[in-house]
Amino acid sequence: MESRYRSKLTRDVRALLDRIEFETQHEVGVELNPDPSAPDSFNPEHLAVRVNEHSATILIRSDGVFPESGALHELLHIERFWLQGTPQLELDSPWTPGQSEIANALEHLVIVPRQRYYSCDDPSYWVDQMRNIWTSRWPALLTGRVDQDTIRIRAMLGWTTTVHLAPASDIVKTARDALRQSGHLTEAERFREAIVTALPRTERMAAVACDFFGIPLATCRLAYLNAIAGVRTEKRLSDL
Ligand SMILES: [Zn+2]
Repeated sequence: MESRYRSKLTRDVRALLDRIEFETQHEVGVELNPDPSAPDSFNPEHLAVRVNEHSATILIRSDGVFPESGALHELLHIERFWLQGTPQLELDSPWTPGQSEIANALEHLVIVPRQRYYSCDDPSYWVDQMRNIWTSRWPALLTGRVDQDTIRIRAMLGWTTTVHLAPASDIVKTARDALRQSGHLTEAERFREAIVTALPRTERMAAVACDFFGIPLATCRLAYLNAIAGVRTEKRLSDL
């Protein structure tokens, strides 16, 4: 990683970066994100990651703006895909929510709790994000022209994410009350319990999610990245 970004990382995060770069013999890049931030983005400066079998790049929003807790988050994504053999979920057909939103939500159940072991972790970020969901996005979803399946899926993902990413916060109660009122709490909790039994294996989490969401397993692929050999392989979820 370019030294002007690497120098913004404290020792434990730098050690994670060094391990990724040493074991794969690839430098982690930092580039400006070519896509504009969504107009309703909760955090317009948020970082993102682009990773494939050849390269991993942390995408920043403004030159030089490189918040360490965000960088840690993206490095943990890279660690999973490159060092731990974790596949990425891909769907043959468009779905709502989209494949990256579903895949990210599942991945966050594993990596956000891991962030707590690092000195730069900022748990308030996730509490604020969950608060934004339940006080703004969820009410808008219920009153908008959205099909019931999309609402169901967002209820399941939103509840599970809230309980695991902001466990000790008052927002868990807010979410529970909102879901009870809309009639989604029972199914959302069944989903959460099923996902917990599958953690941290993406293959199993993806199968649980597709089952609950009504996505046919034969239309789901898992992409595995081998950064050392520069090879990407795919498996059908229905073949596992
Ligand atoms: Zn993420």
